[in-house]
Amino acid sequence: MYAQDMVMLGSQRSVIRELFEYGNQRAAQVGRENVFDFSLGNPSVPSPGWVNESIRQLLDTQSSLQLHGYTSAPGDLTARQAVAADLNRRFGTNYTGAELYLTAGAAAALCACFRALAEPGDEFVAIAPYFPEYRCFVEQGAGAKLRVAEADTETFQINFESLAGCLNPHTKAVIVNSPNNPSGAVYTAETVQKLADMLRSASEEYGHPIYLISDEPYREIVYDGPAPFLPAYYDNTLVCYSWSKSLSLPGERIGYVLVPPQVTDAQLAYAAVCGAGRSLGYVNAPSLFQRVVALANGRVGDIDAYRRNRDLLCQGLADAGYKFALPQGAFYLFPAVPGGDGEAFSRRAMELDLLVVPGEGFGCPGHVRISYCVAEDTIRRALPLFAKLMEEYKAQGLA
Ligand code: PLP
Repeated sequence: MYAQDMVMLGSQRSVIRELFEYGNQRAAQVGRENVFDFSLGNPSVPSPGWVNESIRQLLDTQSSLQLHGYTSAPGDLTARQAVAADLNRRFGTNYTGAELYLTAGAAAALCACFRALAEPGDEFVAIAPYFPEYRCFVEQGAGAKLRVAEADTETFQINFESLAGCLNPHTKAVIVNSPNNPSGAVYTAETVQKLADMLRSASEEYGHPIYLISDEPYREIVYDGPAPFLPAYYDNTLVCYSWSKSLSLPGERIGYVLVPPQVTDAQLAYAAVCGAGRSLGYVNAPSLFQRVVALANGRVGDIDAYRRNRDLLCQGLADAGYKFALPQGAFYLFPAVPGGDGEAFSRRAMELDLLVVPGEGFGCPGHVRISYCVAEDTIRRALPLFAKLMEEYKAQGLA
């Protein structure tokens, strides 16, 4: 009577949401300050002051009919032009508003791209560790198959051998996410160049373009200089961006798809993205926030707060004997766990009211994700618990 796959999706919460709900329950029992919730990627720094000021100013100076009304489906043209101008200033490009499709966050941008590209029998490739929602966006949302390339667990750059093994005549696109959730890795220029070369030769071999879908909600959260801008390396790149993390606006749902003019048959690709949005009933991205992000001009929230958290957490965990690749971006740390079982480690940590997400759901067992977008004090007080867990594993000869 009901679509079984949708019933399943709707009744099973993601592991991350499960942990988050558990954290709320425990907070009611033992007090919020005694629960160390590192489960969710909800930004912990407030939106910059200009965001709220702009909202007030927009409300005071513009007609509310216009502010709260429908915009054109791809977004208000003036807002899109402002976003294009900002990209051009930062990346030396020549984009126009006609190449941008504003969306309700990166999730909607990804869904529009997957739906725009997927034809019967197509496959998409994600690279572990990957954002778990890709699977339902690709498989249930766009009716295509998701393949996963194994992780390079040393550096969390790309395991090219495994990626090569995932490419075949059915491959429509490869999805990349740098800075990465959950590893915090930022792909180097060398990695991106090698990826671009591999996709160019696979496109040639299979006689059709293989697209690169660059999922970039963490683009500005970087600690060692900007991340390589993928369209500069590979023409068939579609960019999915959002201001959820850079401006701490995840609940407001605002982002975009960029279809650069270098993409094969770019106008058709853009039409397909708009058509996908239409078929999904997106109508238009939140109207007020289209106007707000148009004023961003590359400004972001307080990235240094995340850097301080990263340094504190990494130092503490290294001292306790944990092994990890130092995150260069985003606000996640993805250490290998003693004992090699991420789910078991996460369960044991829960008993200490320490909430970390098993790596299994990200396609990378033996690790856990620690979201360090929390108060610094939470990290400081949680470090002895991480150390205690390591000591337990050591005492059992498991570390
Ligand atoms: N992609 C990745 C890798 C993410 O981590 C997230 C959110 O955490 C999203 C996409 C979805 O972002 P948004 O909230 O802008 O839809």
